[in-house]
Amino acid sequence: MYPRLRIDTAKYRHNVQTLQKLCHKHGLSMMAVTKVFCADQRLVDIINELEVDYIADSRIMNLRRMKTDRKKVLLRIPSLHEVDEVVLFADVSLNSEMKTIKALNKSAKYQDTVHDIILMVDIGDLREGVYYKESVMSMITDIQALRHINLKGIGTNLTCYGGVVPNQDTLKKLTDIVRLAKDTLGVTFDIISGGNSSHLHLLYKNASIDAVNNLRIGEALILGRETAFGKPLDDLYQDVVTLEADLIEMKQKPSIPEGDIGMDAFGKTPVFEDFGLMQRGILALGKQDVDFHELIPEDTNVRLIGSSSDHIIADLSNTSTPYKLGDVLRFRLSYGSLLSLMTSRYVEKSYV
Ligand SMILES: *Cc1c(COP(=O)(O)O)cnc(C)c1O
Repeated sequence: MYPRLRIDTAKYRHNVQTLQKLCHKHGLSMMAVTKVFCADQRLVDIINELEVDYIADSRIMNLRRMKTDRKKVLLRIPSLHEVDEVVLFADVSLNSEMKTIKALNKSAKYQDTVHDIILMVDIGDLREGVYYKESVMSMITDIQALRHINLKGIGTNLTCYGGVVPNQDTLKKLTDIVRLAKDTLGVTFDIISGGNSSHLHLLYKNASIDAVNNLRIGEALILGRETAFGKPLDDLYQDVVTLEADLIEMKQKPSIPEGDIGMDAFGKTPVFEDFGLMQRGILALGKQDVDFHELIPEDTNVRLIGSSSDHIIADLSNTSTPYKLGDVLRFRLSYGSLLSLMTSRYVEKSYV
C-alpha cells in the first residue's frame, strides 16, 4: 500500500550504536529521543538491544505506551495537570517551574516514591528553562527542601527556538552555574545534560563540551546529521526512513488554470507562472500528511508544485524516466516531514 514510509531498521541500529559509542568515548551518557517517530515500538526495541542509557520523549503518552527496561525521561516540561502520570510513567522529568515541581513532589509523596528531575536552565536559546541570569541558586535550594524530589541533574537546551549553536562560550554559562552550585551550596549533579543533536559537531571535532556529561539525541539517530549546521555525519546513514508515494493520475495539462481565479482549498488566492504544457502527476497524499515543501525527491528532476488536503501535484516534464500511472516516487525527508508522516495514520509504515 502507498503512500508508505520505508523504515530501515538495520540502518537505524547502526546510527544508534555509532552515536552511543561516540558519546561513551567522550565520557557522556546518551538519551535516545523517540518523539520524531512517535516512540514506535519497532524502533524502541532496537534501542532496547543496545547499550543506550536512557530513552526520552516529549510526550507522556508515548512514555506510557512504550515497552523498555531503560530509564524513561520526559523531555517536555510537565503540565500541572499531568503530574500524577509523570511520576507514574517517567523515571526522570525536565523541569523549570517551581509550582510544577512542588506538585510533582506532592504526587510522589502520595505515590510513596521519589521522583528524579533535571532542572532546565535557559542559556540564551529562549525556549524552556530558568533564565540563567535569574534565581537559579535559590530555586536549587527550594528544590532540595522537597523530600520526594531528587535533583538528579541540571540541563539546557539549544538550537531549538533561537537557533543558538553550542560552543565553549555558550556552554560556559552552564558550567558556571554547576560550579556556583558546588561552591555556594555544596550541591553536585549526577547529570549535566547539554542538549540535542546540535552538540554533535563538537564531539566530531573532539572539541570540549565543558562540564556536560549527557546528551539527548533524536534527529541525528534517524536523519544522520548534526543540527547546528545541518551537516550529514559521514559514518551515519541519512536514509533510515524514506517516503514512497505512487502516481494516481498522469496527464498533460497547462501550467496556468483557466477561468476567474478565486480562493484555493485553503482560502488563499494562488498565483501561477506559465511554463506551457506540463506533464503532471498526482500523488495520493497531501497537507493532512505532510508539507510538500519538506519532501526531497530522489529523482532531482521531479518538482513538487502544489498540494491540497490529500493530493500533491508533481511537475514531471523534465524527468529522464518516463513515469507512468502507478509508478512510485521516492523522497528523502526533513525533520518536519518525518514528524508529520510518522504521525499520519494514512501513511503505512513498512519495516525492512
Ligand atoms: C527534542 C528534544 C531533544 C532532541 O533533539 P534532536 O534535535 O532531535 O536531537 C533534546 N532535548 C529536548 C528538551 C527536546 O525536546
